[in-house]
Amino acid sequence: MKYTIILLLLPFLCSAQGRFDKVEIKTQKITDNIYMLEGAGGNIAVLTGEDGTLMVDSQFGDLSEKIKTAIAEIATGDLRYLVNTHWHGDHTGGNGNFNDAGATIIAHKNVRERVSTDQIMKAFGREVKASPKNVWPEITFDEGMNLHLNNQDLMIVHVDNAHTDGDAFIYFTQANVLHMGDVFFKDRFPFIDLGSGGTIDGYIKAVQAALMISDSETQIIPGHGALANQADLMNYHQMLTTMKNRVQKATAEGKTVDEMKTAGLDEGFESWGTGFIAQDAFINTIWTDLNREEN
Ligand SMILES: [Zn+2]
Repeated sequence: MKYTIILLLLPFLCSAQGRFDKVEIKTQKITDNIYMLEGAGGNIAVLTGEDGTLMVDSQFGDLSEKIKTAIAEIATGDLRYLVNTHWHGDHTGGNGNFNDAGATIIAHKNVRERVSTDQIMKAFGREVKASPKNVWPEITFDEGMNLHLNNQDLMIVHVDNAHTDGDAFIYFTQANVLHMGDVFFKDRFPFIDLGSGGTIDGYIKAVQAALMISDSETQIIPGHGALANQADLMNYHQMLTTMKNRVQKATAEGKTVDEMKTAGLDEGFESWGTGFIAQDAFINTIWTDLNREEN
């Protein structure tokens, strides 16, 4: 009897877990003691050494065991800190598990505000319920803060109203490594979460700030996509300003947003719409945001 029930339940058990079963955590060494971890969701950075281990972002909760295994293979100190680049679940979903494992969570004050209360993700038409307390950042900042461990001075810098209203860059000064969270989708149109305080102008300004922080030698970890450099970020900046200008121009010419989508405004950037955000969605975001500003 029991056996029958298990057989009947099997397809459901598999489908609930299936999404993450096949995900492998890929570890890429960036410097002596800094690594980039890719799995599903936002890229993770790990700094490790005798002062302990710090991670940036935590992907999805279902991946925490795999991520812990990957970190154990490289870590030379106990897990002490988890810094979030912003509140989205593909970057904070593992927070609770890593907090339970001893990590103190650090993020912008608006990350704590958003994960501790019910949120509506307008862009996807779904509600995100408040998370349990072990997901919430325990140390929050407004403009930024510095951390010093393993001979690295870490600058954590808030950028205003970019991808959300709680974005932060993490710059590892001596290593010249910059984690940009979702203010950088390498070679792809970005998701800008207007419902969480994101704006196209703030997003472009934040990319400009990253261009100021970085130089030609900087290794840049994007929120999504492969390890990048300043030239990649310059291309990204050019795409963002060009797409914004095209939407503005078309609006001034009296075109509707639907006409813009049908005509296509992605000339020269066709491959950028092959990821999570297609050109239609990106045009819609820019148009909605600019229209909102005029009101
Ligand atoms: Zn995000």
